[in-house]
Parts: sequence; structure tokens; C-alpha cells
Amino acid sequence: MLYDTIFVQIQGMPQARLPDINTAYVKYRVGAIHALKSKQYNVMHGCLISINALLPAEYQVVVSTAEYNVLAKVDITYHCNNCEVDITKEDIEVFDLIPNGMESLLHGGKANKVWSCIKCNKLNRLVSTSISQTILQNPTFLGIVPESPSRTNGLMDRMKFNIEIERWGWNLLGELEFKMGKFRDDNWKRGDNDDLSSRIDFSLDDKES
Ligand SMILES: [Zn+2]
Repeated sequence: MLYDTIFVQIQGMPQARLPDINTAYVKYRVGAIHALKSKQYNVMHGCLISINALLPAEYQVVVSTAEYNVLAKVDITYHCNNCEVDITKEDIEVFDLIPNGMESLLHGGKANKVWSCIKCNKLNRLVSTSISQTILQNPTFLGIVPESPSRTNGLMDRMKFNIEIERWGWNLLGELEFKMGKFRDDNWKRGDNDDLSSRIDFSLDDKES
């Protein structure tokens, strides 16, 4: 369904626009990389945002710290051995269970670390709980980046800011490359576009790294 929508919209795009988009993309990309290397971060930011603006809405990278944080969040879950449900760490409270007389005899009187499952209310011993961690694979193209870091009244020193904004710039550029590649694949590699493909300048594709 989504594919149909995209296809219809692209069909509606004048074919002559496609090489124009690519030419502008190549120009802004060279500009962005040059600005990044020469630490002209405002120029870099402008070039990257311009590349994003060139792309049709379905191919644009979303720039949103809030949405990025949701996606990039590390997810830790505890598996309940009773109801077999995975419970997120935020809902887990680990506490000491003081053993009764019989357990003291069996386990030497040491307190057990346990947590209570919010689904079935049964206690699980921490030592026999399997804990899973979901972290983003790297490199991953999420289609979402956080907003660019900004220097705030000298609180963030220049060195730290430079590292963060460079990382942000390369990250957004990578995301844009991925989207641009997809945009090209979806539009310029169809059999009937051969003449168009030959007019597109791909010469920079393998040079920058
Ligand atoms: Zn449970």
C-alpha cells in the first residue's frame, strides 16, 4: 500500500526534475564534506538540511531529538519464569527476601535477591532470571537523527562541541546517502529510464570517504 502511494507520487514528478535533484545533491554533498573538514559547521548544517529538502517527503530524514531517543533507547527486559512474559527494567524492583527457617538450613541463611512480576505477581529469584538487552545495531540507518548539538553559553567546551557536531554531521550524511541511494534505486533503475540514468552524474560516488 505504501509502495503504491510512493509510486504514484513519483510518477507525477516531472522526469526532468530527477537529474536536477541529483546535480544539486552532488553539489551540496561536496560542500557539506568540505565544510565538515574545515569546521565550518553552519555551512555544513545548511548543506545537509538542503540535501534533505531536495528529497521527496517519503525519503527525507526526520530530524527530531524526541523521536530519535525513542528509537535509540536501550531496552532491558527481565524474563518472568512463571508467566514467561518479558518485563521492562523500569517496572522491576529488586529486593532482598529474608529466607525462612527451612531455606536458611538449605541455603545457609543468606538473603535472596528477588523481584516481583507485575503481570503474575509471582516472585522471581534474580540469580535465575534471564535478562535481555536490545541495543541498536551499528551502523544502522534509522531515518531519524537528533537535532544538531548547539553550544550553550560556554557550558559545553569547544572541544566537546566539535566532536559532537562532527559525529552528528557524518551521521546525518550517512542517513542522507542511504535515502538518496534508495531514491535512486526506486526511480532511476527501472528499465524505461535508461536514457535518464546515462545523464546522471554518479562520478563522485566512489571518491569521498
Ligand atoms: Zn510473571
